[in-house]
Amino acid sequence: MMRRMVVLSILAACGKGAPDAKHFGERFYSGGANGSHVQCSKGVDRTHEWPHAELAASLEYARAHDLVLHTYGHAPTLSLDEYFADFDWATAHGVKLVTFRDLAAGFHGPGWAFSVDDDEVDAWFAWRAPLRAHGVKVTFFVTNFAKLTPAQRAELHALATDGHDIEAHSATHQNAVEYATAHGIPAYVADEALPSQALLAADGFPAPVAFSYPYGAHTHELDAALAPHFAWLRTVGAQWCLKDGDGHAP
Ligand SMILES: [Zn+2]
Repeated sequence: MMRRMVVLSILAACGKGAPDAKHFGERFYSGGANGSHVQCSKGVDRTHEWPHAELAASLEYARAHDLVLHTYGHAPTLSLDEYFADFDWATAHGVKLVTFRDLAAGFHGPGWAFSVDDDEVDAWFAWRAPLRAHGVKVTFFVTNFAKLTPAQRAELHALATDGHDIEAHSATHQNAVEYATAHGIPAYVADEALPSQALLAADGFPAPVAFSYPYGAHTHELDAALAPHFAWLRTVGAQWCLKDGDGHAP
């Protein structure tokens, strides 16, 4: 009876969806028995093709099973206001909005890791007030850091001061699998992954603990090569959420 009431309250909070909505799937959670340092994340850009009620069901699943739900998006195509009601529901129901740094520090669910990729720092900075209003801490996975202007770097530091997590998304957004095929895995690590981490640390950010693969593209060999350097590796997409190591794929 209690469970039914909880489900109804989610639907009321989000205002749409069918009561039999499915959650996104096991591979989009961390914190379970089959944990991996390689984590799949569910896309929540405006172009997403899932019913909104599935997000409510996924947050409820995270709450009920003491897991962390992983979602990601991009500033040009993410409608942040689409998720305000979900942020508020999560906060009100003990599903904490957590960063990858929280996870690396040992956070245990229930939680929601909301991450945003790439280099749209001005757009991220414009989200400061609503993120603060809804109690959301975002993990920003930054690429092309070397191309950011001093003003954009200052914006990124302001976001970090707000409690958001600034993590690594490679030096120049190369496809890791293609790069490693052409130049070798050590070259990818040396040219794309480690500089992404080092540039942020050199600019005064806490040393990144997480790395998100551009396009989600990775292999188990790349994962093994990056494991000594990052507590978490994040991937996306059906092609790259490999079945025998990422997240909690059935
Ligand atoms: Zn990207």
